[in-house]
Amino acid sequence: MGKIDVKSKNVDELKEFLTTELQEKGFRATQIFKWLHDKNVITFADMRNLSHNLQTKLEQSSHITTLDTVTRHQAKDGTIKYLFQLEDGQTIESVYLPYADGRQSICISSQVGCGMGCSFCATAIGGFIRNLTPAEIVEQVYAVQRDLSVRITNVVLMGMGEPLLNYDSVIKAIRLLNDPLGTNIGIRKITLSTCGIVPQIRQLSKEDLQLVLAISLHAPNDALRNQLMPINRKYPLVELISACSEYTKITRRRITFEYAVIAGVNDLPEHAEQLVRLIKGLLCHVNLIPINPVEGFEFGRPSGVNLQGFMEIISNNGIEVSIREERGTDIDAACGQLRRRNEEVKS
Ligand code: SF4
Repeated sequence: MGKIDVKSKNVDELKEFLTTELQEKGFRATQIFKWLHDKNVITFADMRNLSHNLQTKLEQSSHITTLDTVTRHQAKDGTIKYLFQLEDGQTIESVYLPYADGRQSICISSQVGCGMGCSFCATAIGGFIRNLTPAEIVEQVYAVQRDLSVRITNVVLMGMGEPLLNYDSVIKAIRLLNDPLGTNIGIRKITLSTCGIVPQIRQLSKEDLQLVLAISLHAPNDALRNQLMPINRKYPLVELISACSEYTKITRRRITFEYAVIAGVNDLPEHAEQLVRLIKGLLCHVNLIPINPVEGFEFGRPSGVNLQGFMEIISNNGIEVSIREERGTDIDAACGQLRRRNEEVKS
């Protein structure tokens, strides 16, 4: 039998494991959880308040998931993009983003690769490989905390993969990150971004998690969204917006609509007007993202004039809208680019 993945377990599960499998006292679960998720140690020998006997039992029965850094690129603005290697040799990307107001944010991955096939995304090129475990998801935060000696304040699940298609592990990871005994990241400081998996959006609304839900919308009508995001053929806009509306009613939380603005594709005034008609009346905010150019894709950045005009049409209709600050444009900042480059170098 394989070793137990202790970093994927919450305190109750650790307690169950310790008392039934290792015949230890239940209070040890809290100590071990704190070492893993608060003090961020990576060996049982470093858990100094455990007896040598318990450390040995843990070493024989259990495993602490860690990530190896393959590459680490720092941009002029302080953004750092990591390519991490998992224990089976697969690679994922995470991006550290420091802000002038003190926020220490990280964008993390939920899957190796992605099967959603969005036409503007470098991650989509290699397809879906596998889901990450809860430990592999939270370890991206902890690896960066260890590397930079910082305390991460904000987490965005917007890296590689579709989080809602790795639902159980992602929800578990969010609860681990939010646990007051662990790294204790505020639930409202955690953003989950989805391309629009309707049944799981409805499921998420019942989790009693006050996180920020972001929907990657990117197109204001089905014809265009079908082209950009194949998932729209399965869950068209009418179904997606209905699930979003239900989500806001149940959670009373505002949804963020992410809209990657692509020159000549979805940045025309008529697109802004369609977008207004689609989401008007919903408790929401629109985040416009001038697209990062990706090598091998023909999509380009919108001009400043188009972007400004697009934003004005939305805000003049009473919908909150902002333009996302550009980060790390000098280091392959778009999701999937670093991993793709690494695969090309290896082949
Ligand atoms: S944009 Fe997100 S959902 Fe779409 S292919 Fe890329 S990683 Fe997957």
